[in-house]
Amino acid sequence: MVQPTDLRPATRLAQGLGAHDTQYGGVVPGIHPSTTFMRDADYKLKFEDSYSRPVGPTHRPAEALLASLEGGAAAMLFGSGMAAATAVFQALKPGDHVVAPQVMYWALRSWIVGWLQPWGVAADLIDMTDVGAVRAAIRPGQTKLIWVETPANPTWCVTDLAAMAELARGCGARLAVDNTVPTPLLTRPLAFGADIVMHSCTKYLNGHSDVLGGALITAKTDDFWERVSGIRDNNGGALGPFEAWLLLRGLRTLHLRLRESCANAQAVAEHLQGHSGVEAVLYPGLGNDPGHAVAKRQMTGGFGGMLSVRVKGGREGALKAAGRLQLWKRATSLGGVESLVEHRASVEPANSPVPKDLLRLSAGIEDAADLIADFDQALR
Ligand code: PLP
Repeated sequence: MVQPTDLRPATRLAQGLGAHDTQYGGVVPGIHPSTTFMRDADYKLKFEDSYSRPVGPTHRPAEALLASLEGGAAAMLFGSGMAAATAVFQALKPGDHVVAPQVMYWALRSWIVGWLQPWGVAADLIDMTDVGAVRAAIRPGQTKLIWVETPANPTWCVTDLAAMAELARGCGARLAVDNTVPTPLLTRPLAFGADIVMHSCTKYLNGHSDVLGGALITAKTDDFWERVSGIRDNNGGALGPFEAWLLLRGLRTLHLRLRESCANAQAVAEHLQGHSGVEAVLYPGLGNDPGHAVAKRQMTGGFGGMLSVRVKGGREGALKAAGRLQLWKRATSLGGVESLVEHRASVEPANSPVPKDLLRLSAGIEDAADLIADFDQALR
């Protein structure tokens, strides 16, 4: 009998790792909205669930699929990517120290500065492309977590995961990686020595811009994982059953959607590089990108669907080009089937390091020629 874990990722995804409706034989599993579960006369539960705040039957297929794709021991779903990420930091103790990236998803960076540090966990925001700078920031005995996002929002700079894992091991810290943008199809951080992987499922995993969710996957179910799990279960940060069901439905086409997004991002990046209206294109899939060599080593099957363009004419030039685009929707977020454009400086806080002329692009699965033509008319 073939085991789901022997199958290639596309097969696991398309068949939802074999999840189905065991009661009626439906080829997709059902939704179980019940918040509470009956006990028999001997006070035994039918299954392991008694109450749905931590997790319920609808979550398990998506959790199992994510753990399998990342090569982890277990996965947990959360109500958002931020709920998942912050649960990892909250499992630390006052007095601990964290090394996190200077360039990262801005809301998490703001949370580290505005919430984590006042709670007594020290943090240094470091250029993670510089292994020496990360090494220098480590405080022996105090650094308990190295947090990485690669390629990182919104400049798509690349961090060497194997080097970070070695540094974490050397100082007894855990390495956690935000793998939202590459997804486990392009990068599997646990294989490079990471301890925990985090996803905003809101992006590629669900892929249709209609579910807010997050996930954590662990290499091993140790005490730290128990603490993180306690935070989700007691703080009430789990995903709802309807969203968990939609997430599994979205996951079943991840390999097809991501392949198109990567191809479109690569085509748009190559076209815009050297365009008269463009100052620079930031995309690790370009041979001259500073992160290309490391990305080539740790990403397989593509360089992701995210890129940024620095438009000539500064902030005004970027806003003008964004305003003229017709197919690319002016909206935040990423990883959906529709292409999105965002002027990041308009939405990030005033102290953000993001360049004012930068447009962040999330390449969807439309025809690349149409996406390129839209940019050509907008930059004219
Ligand atoms: N990580 C990355 C890379 C993101 O882009 C985002 C959201 O944009 C998050 C985490 C946070 O996820 P969520 O919006 O699901 O809370």
